[in-house]
Amino acid sequence: MSAREPTGPACDTGSLVDQVSAHRRLLPPPEVYPVEPWRIVERRLVPRFLPQFEALFTVSNGYLGIRATPEEGLPVHERGTYLNGFYETWPIVYGEEAHGFAKRGQTMLCVPDGTLLKLYVDDDPFELGTARIVSFERSLDLRAGTLDREVVFETFDRKRLAVRSRRFASLEHRHLACIRYEVEVVDGQADVTIASELVTPDEVPASSNDPRVPSQLDGHPLVATDHRARDRRVLLNLEARASGLRMACAMDHALSADAEISVEEADCLEDRGRVVFRSKLGKGQGLRIFKALAYHHDATADAGELRFRTNRTLDRALEAGFERIEAEQRARVDEFWRSSDVQVEDDPAVQQAVRFNLFQILQATARAEGFGVPAKALSGLGYEGHYFWDTEIYLLPFLLYTRPHVARSLLEHRYAQLDSARRRAREVGQKGALFPWRTINGEEASAYYAASTAQYHIDADIVFAAQRYTQLTGDLDFLGHGFAEMAVETARLWADLGFYSERKGGSFCINGVTGPDEYNTVVNNNAYTNLMAQENLRIAIGAVELLRERAPDAYAHLVESTALDPSELVEWGRAADRMYLPYDDEAGVHLQDDGFLDREPWDFEGTPGDQYPLLLHYHPLVIYRHQVIKQADMVLAAFLLGEHFSREEKQRIFDYYDPLTTGDSSLSVCIQSIVAAELGYCDRACRYFADAVAMDLGNVGGNVRDGLHVASLGGTWMTLVHGFAGLRDHGGVPRFRPVLPRGWRRLRFRLRVRGSLFEVDLGQERATYELLEGDALEIEHEGEPLRLEPGAGPRAMPVTPVEEAEPVAGSA
Ligand code: BGC
Repeated sequence: MSAREPTGPACDTGSLVDQVSAHRRLLPPPEVYPVEPWRIVERRLVPRFLPQFEALFTVSNGYLGIRATPEEGLPVHERGTYLNGFYETWPIVYGEEAHGFAKRGQTMLCVPDGTLLKLYVDDDPFELGTARIVSFERSLDLRAGTLDREVVFETFDRKRLAVRSRRFASLEHRHLACIRYEVEVVDGQADVTIASELVTPDEVPASSNDPRVPSQLDGHPLVATDHRARDRRVLLNLEARASGLRMACAMDHALSADAEISVEEADCLEDRGRVVFRSKLGKGQGLRIFKALAYHHDATADAGELRFRTNRTLDRALEAGFERIEAEQRARVDEFWRSSDVQVEDDPAVQQAVRFNLFQILQATARAEGFGVPAKALSGLGYEGHYFWDTEIYLLPFLLYTRPHVARSLLEHRYAQLDSARRRAREVGQKGALFPWRTINGEEASAYYAASTAQYHIDADIVFAAQRYTQLTGDLDFLGHGFAEMAVETARLWADLGFYSERKGGSFCINGVTGPDEYNTVVNNNAYTNLMAQENLRIAIGAVELLRERAPDAYAHLVESTALDPSELVEWGRAADRMYLPYDDEAGVHLQDDGFLDREPWDFEGTPGDQYPLLLHYHPLVIYRHQVIKQADMVLAAFLLGEHFSREEKQRIFDYYDPLTTGDSSLSVCIQSIVAAELGYCDRACRYFADAVAMDLGNVGGNVRDGLHVASLGGTWMTLVHGFAGLRDHGGVPRFRPVLPRGWRRLRFRLRVRGSLFEVDLGQERATYELLEGDALEIEHEGEPLRLEPGAGPRAMPVTPVEEAEPVAGSA
């Protein structure tokens, strides 16, 4: 009996290429989607793949994101320009109300689309879907940080034109997106008109029974409060009807042409601005438009102020010019790859997919300052633009090892929402603070408590991530600027939520919560939650003590701001020491929760493949009463808190729970791969990895059209570094135990720990570690301590070959 197998074929071929290709078989053949190390290329527009490529080819900087719809407007599945933190609210209507239910939903808004540059040749529109295309190529350039397209087409009367476009959301200037659009007459002569537009979207996404797609907002959530046109510039001020959030956006243009070019029209209505250019081009002549787009939103600024800022962004962009901003973009991306690239030699398909994943993390996070990272980044409206635990558990590991400043900014953002979390704890009758399961503005936005708001573990996830951040970056400043305060308030929540149960020998029990696995909800003593709560309580004690010792002023401030009583620490220690961990002697395995083994086994054999994900095909109660798992839960605990389990215990956990795991969430396969690698289930590790790395590019979950899976982007890095390189860092010391897939000759990456940068270069037989920057660093290789000294060159260590493991006797 087993849940769905990982879809990648077994690893016997010795290479993962076949496995990733298996997913790429979902796409048309390699002539259309060639494997390249630094680009994702599409050589033909395939209507069936249009929706997913809108998300895959998103350009974003973490503040501003734009789906890859064509400049000419059509064909389109769902237009999308999004601003991180800009949303509409709506009353959540329950059939039956109860105390403490979340009251207001939040949905990220689709803001005016400025990508439009509609092209008319002798008055006929050029549209990709209907034109006679001679050649087409669209590519996401992972080194330049741009989305490029080149099309040659023929008009009905056989004139031939080439159109080239390049766009990006600037990593240097976070309010700015740039497009360069070039039209060249290759054969014949043509009267060319380009209508550049900035349009408030009027379509609302179609409703669906899939809980992962956005709720429908009624009518038009965005109201224009001002609209202006001057020269080639158009500006709109808008306000979201219910949330009252304000924004401004604008476009301006710089032109150059080989013939005369005129501005025919520049006007702006409430919901649409337009500037029209025209030129008569002879053979070999072309025109180029640099379109600059600026977006600003700020809850505290009025319309005039937002207008001022938006104009300023455009003034600076036009002054700099496209080439300079493009060069800055490349410099930022170069800097990213210097510390963040992961090289997989001899496996080009994997290499391409790995870099795609990493590049999308860059785009999702680089300039998110002051905001979180939506689960689908800024690439679609799936999950309504909400922030989840995905950030702390799946994304932060990559960031804190490669881009610590970004990790800190995301943790600071959580801290900025601590007051809302305090209020939320009161609403659900607890002390301390309860962070929302899903949110944009800090308030709980989930309308379904069983599989969402009951996931109290988010409190511990945040504190766990903050602790790892502090240990691995050595940034103690954050301790007094958010970390300790969050740790105190969350520890209070756990101390208040749990109780000492007589029936469980006086152990500290936590009932009525949901763990990571959303197919077993409102359970007692979810092991992941209990272990993470225990960690949270101990981290809080440690954080308070460290602050008292190192920063007495900050400590005094903490005591005052949280009214901390030293006796609380004693209480937290007691609760942590007596935390209950469910275990079944007969089955010889830790229990995901108290009642897990009492549930009826799920009939996997009788469940056809098209009934997955189960959440779309079965009433939640049917799922809840069975032993069936949506995503790694106990197995996640065995990874994150691995030091609490012996190797044999971990193996029993994996052997028992892995076959019950459907992987119906994109957060699962990466974790399954990591734990499989640790246990020597090399084959499964590879197959789960293949699913993780291809999650978006291969559309493994079938819903990329609604946006990228941010957790899986980060999870893929984790499979490489925590899985195949075997990195664990309990206590802040990096320890490696490499298990490379059989066909890989080399896996190479860089990590930054407490300011020191080092390179890890792994082969089948040898691992080398080299300090590249900073002070000496202690690490471990296969249990052996290693000190990396400045200037000492690479340290080579032998790698012990790993035999394919067998399940432990007595396991399921
Ligand atoms: C998963 C959650 C996750 C959310 C957003 C859900 O399907 O079960 O764990 O946080 O998606 O990615």
